[in-house]
Amino acid sequence: MIDYDVDQTGIAVITWNMTEAGTNILSEQSMAAFTEAVDRAVADEKVTGMVITSARKDFLAGADISMFLGVSDAAEMAELAGAAQGMIRHLETCGKPVVAAINGTALGGGLELCLGCHYRIAADNPKTRIGLVEVTIGVIPGAGGTQRLTRLIGIKQAVPLMAEGKRIKVQQALKLGIVDEIVPPEKLLKAAKQWILDGGQAGNPWDQKGFIPPGGDLTDPGNQDFMAVANAMLREQSQGNYPAPLAVLAAVHDSINSPIDRGLEIEAKYFGRTATGKVAQNMIRSLFFGMQAANKLKNRPKGFEPKPPTQVAVLGAGLMGSGIAHACVTRGLPTILLDTTDEAAERGKAGIQKLLDREVEKGRLSESQREEILALVTATSRYEDLAGTDLVVEAVFENREVKAEVTAKVAEQLGDDIVFGSNTSTLPITGLAQTWRKPENFIGIHFFSPVHRMGLVEIIRGEQTSDATLAATMDFVKAIGKTPIVVNDARGFYTSRVVCTYCEEGMAMLAEGVKPALIENAGRMTGMPLGPLELADEVQIGLLYKVRKQWEADLGDDFKPTVGWPVVQQFVEQFERTGKGAGKGFYDYSGDKQLWPELAVHYPQAAQQPAVEQVKKRLLYAQAIDAARCLEENVVTTPLDADIGSILGWGFPPWTGGVISYIETVGISEFVAEAKQLAEQHGERFLPPKLLQDMVASGSGFYPAS
Ligand code: NAD
Repeated sequence: MIDYDVDQTGIAVITWNMTEAGTNILSEQSMAAFTEAVDRAVADEKVTGMVITSARKDFLAGADISMFLGVSDAAEMAELAGAAQGMIRHLETCGKPVVAAINGTALGGGLELCLGCHYRIAADNPKTRIGLVEVTIGVIPGAGGTQRLTRLIGIKQAVPLMAEGKRIKVQQALKLGIVDEIVPPEKLLKAAKQWILDGGQAGNPWDQKGFIPPGGDLTDPGNQDFMAVANAMLREQSQGNYPAPLAVLAAVHDSINSPIDRGLEIEAKYFGRTATGKVAQNMIRSLFFGMQAANKLKNRPKGFEPKPPTQVAVLGAGLMGSGIAHACVTRGLPTILLDTTDEAAERGKAGIQKLLDREVEKGRLSESQREEILALVTATSRYEDLAGTDLVVEAVFENREVKAEVTAKVAEQLGDDIVFGSNTSTLPITGLAQTWRKPENFIGIHFFSPVHRMGLVEIIRGEQTSDATLAATMDFVKAIGKTPIVVNDARGFYTSRVVCTYCEEGMAMLAEGVKPALIENAGRMTGMPLGPLELADEVQIGLLYKVRKQWEADLGDDFKPTVGWPVVQQFVEQFERTGKGAGKGFYDYSGDKQLWPELAVHYPQAAQQPAVEQVKKRLLYAQAIDAARCLEENVVTTPLDADIGSILGWGFPPWTGGVISYIETVGISEFVAEAKQLAEQHGERFLPPKLLQDMVASGSGFYPAS
């Protein structure tokens, strides 16, 4: 776990080497083993100094976050921070010079350990990222990070890095003074030892009498102003939803004029408070463990050997097809990109090249790497070129006949035994699967736009899709570095269905006379990336119209108009405003984007406007109730898939932990009571599903651990 070696010159090299954990992390065991190694070096008179390094790809990925999950007592949580602080403080004050040899990524507790060393040398590794990223899971640095980073580089530099949870490259870390030197990887150890041999001194400046951080402490009026502005900005950005960035600020504010040991106590107190809060517990569970479980394919059917494809074909080289092919080839998967003509296929390939060019410009990819990746794409219009493909993603026009035609041509060329995936956004998979002779090999593989930025893939099981097909599809999604959720076949599947409830609730309010600006602001204040009307414009009101018309045609008398349907109809049929693509929807896009001024004419504003909290509640509850219904109807099968799908798929606010976690955050019985009230005021769509009512009766929850 921790290797220990003393060389002939008397330098002890303490190497983090947690082979069993996959990566180095600060756990109870590893911290004890590390301290033991430090004590050994301190006790050995021959040892003149210590090099702290790692034998793994990363230096140290951070703390073992499972320690934080389920701890509800703030003092107990503060003690956990205290233990890590103690380990680092012990190292820092051990009396012998200590240098960190940072071979790879050092995040959170990993960087905090480096900050407790007396000198830091990083290997020149373009993949290395350095940062105190704790706020990204709702907590603050708790192993001295808020104290040492601020004392090392000054308040104005340190606070934004921590409050935003930035990951920076080693060059930037050098510029900021977080690392002292960068050397080629093969010279790292030698350089670290050399620092000791050259007389590197034990101790850090903040332990010297009269120490003042670079740029001054909080008696400096410039720093006081900076903190006041930062506070106001963070409050506005977080809309009160994210306590951690403000806690970073408070921890720095309350401590920076004190000695470091007092500062560490203050940090531990703030850590205890934030880490036991609902937001942190939600974010840790969904964004950390949930994502990890999804990425490790926790719900993959058992009993099937991993079977990632060796060659993929993407049919249709349009917006989605080109993006999907890009995702495949950047992960080294040979991909055939097929369209009706060679020119159309080449256009799709040019789209891939454009994305790669940007990476080259940013220095993330070399020109030769770009050429290697591009060489993996075969742009074609000939089905014969599909030979050797074991998984197909169809992304042609959203039209049953066109899809049936290409499906038949693929079967003719490749037979029926391959996995055939459709990227349809609206057509039921079970129906499409009838065009494939072995419907058990047919599946929905729903990507999101823009594919290169969106990490989620919604895998849709048709009624006849086999476990083997599902397993192979999950392997594919993993192979291209995306996060899968698995849902069953139903209209709108899961993500498109629930996000529409958000847009439609906004439309319902518009029709009731709620001011559009109030609706939009309230939406953003919940933490959704866009207001509901703005999002409807992005999705395209015209598409919502088309989909509902299709449902009407498919379902006949069983078609139940959704709550926003009258507004959608009006916008398409009467106003001919179909969304952002057309330059006009709820907003005008001709000049500066603004809400369509005529909204007030068509939807007269009520004299009595609801409180913003009420509008926010309606928007969040509409989504949460529909998501719970999706669970009840088995459209989505696990709370975790529902949560991850909501955050990654449509930007449901991460502070909630996801759309289902939100219900638990409110408290299931309180949620049910509120939902009933909303149903009385605004209609049956708010009636809480039986699943929730049963949970109240039995006192159970979605996540037993919480
Ligand atoms: P698009 O119009 O940009 O691209 C479709 C491509 O398919 C075009 O290049 C077209 O030439 C090609 N094509 C049409 N008929 C073909 C045929 N017979 N053989 C081969 N190629 C053919 O559309 P898009 O936005 O990329 O959507 C494609 C699919 O992805 C649709 O099913 C859509 O519902 C789905 N989808 C779209 C989005 C989105 O945001 N655009 C998101 C998820 C899923």
